[in-house]
Amino acid sequence: MDKLNYINETEKNLVHTYNRYDVVLEKGEGVYLYDTEGKKYLDFAAGIAVMALGYNNREYNDALKNQIEKLLHTSNLYYNTQICEASKKLLKVSQMDRVFLTNSGTEAIEGAIKAARKYAYKKQKKGCYEIIAMEHSFHGRSLGALSVTGNNHYREPFEPLLPGVKFAKFNDIESVKELVSPKTCAIIMETVQGEGGIYPADEMFLKEVKQICKENDILLILDEIQCGMGRTGEMFAWQGYGIKPDIMTCAKAIGCGVPVGAFFVTEKVAQNSLEPGDHGTTYGGNPFVSAAIVEVLRQFEKKNILAHVQDISEYLEDQLDLLVCEYDFLVERRGKGLMQGVESKVNVSEISKKALENGLILITAGKNVLRFVPPLIITEENVDEMISKLKQTLDTFV
Ligand SMILES: *Cc1c(COP(=O)(O)O)cnc(C)c1O
Repeated sequence: MDKLNYINETEKNLVHTYNRYDVVLEKGEGVYLYDTEGKKYLDFAAGIAVMALGYNNREYNDALKNQIEKLLHTSNLYYNTQICEASKKLLKVSQMDRVFLTNSGTEAIEGAIKAARKYAYKKQKKGCYEIIAMEHSFHGRSLGALSVTGNNHYREPFEPLLPGVKFAKFNDIESVKELVSPKTCAIIMETVQGEGGIYPADEMFLKEVKQICKENDILLILDEIQCGMGRTGEMFAWQGYGIKPDIMTCAKAIGCGVPVGAFFVTEKVAQNSLEPGDHGTTYGGNPFVSAAIVEVLRQFEKKNILAHVQDISEYLEDQLDLLVCEYDFLVERRGKGLMQGVESKVNVSEISKKALENGLILITAGKNVLRFVPPLIITEENVDEMISKLKQTLDTFV
């Protein structure tokens, strides 16, 4: 089949929830993708911050093949070797105390919300079910996660959603304080807002939120689904802030291509929250995805990915800053590590479409931000190539 056939057939078959880019991707190698016509693309999107270790990673493939031939799935009614290894490694890098494996980010959020609700319930705080979330946040598409997502456009058609969710302004501590009440059970936010336009939390803001939580026995839920797993140069972004969440969610790069997510809790939450029968999943953390987590974390350690991200992101930041200076319609760069955004006055969808034509995969965030979330293994040469392709693209909008 040729490209147009694939596109037309797919459009005919799938529920129309995406406006897809005009390309049919077929294979990947390292930081490059290839379409059905053999055209090569430099990938600075990584399947939305998922493919941290790049495409067709030999050792990762071997680990998965190995596991396929042993055991794919058992259900969570039994123990298996892989979830044992995976959970041990995850707790070590997260500094959290317990983990529950899910199939996606949105499910990790559902679990986090349930854990927070159950915590208040066990403490016999009657009517304590309110959650403070942030404007311009994104936490997923299932109804619970959508309830705490600060984007009216996503929420409105599906209302009524969870009751008792209030939205504060991100990085505005007064707006959080105004919403705290005896009914508040949790405050949820991304440590670095992703879909909303790449906004890192201010250190003071996060510390003050943590303080409010401590004083009022409110649980702090940090969503690290996009900014976690080494993307900011810390294993989890909050680790660079000198605070610790009570509950953390993770997904995207945790499996580097297989569908898996997780929510983590501290022992304080574990002892006063979910119990047998309260929560479950058929697939979650099965031997196959757990083997992927084990291999991902093994490579993170062996390749010293965090040090590499700290190193290479400085170079990326410098190059993007130069770009912002050079083009009048680029407003500013912001972000942390390999999670960067450049705000533009020119339509960013148009820019990203044009970039694709020029062999560069780039996605957007919010209404006016170009988002840079490449595989964590990129080199200076890859950054140079990206900048050159991006300049070629931007020049057509001058
Ligand atoms: C992608 C994302 C989610 C949702 O994850 P899914 O796996 O798509 O359900 C939630 N929170 C953040 C911050 C995300 O970036």
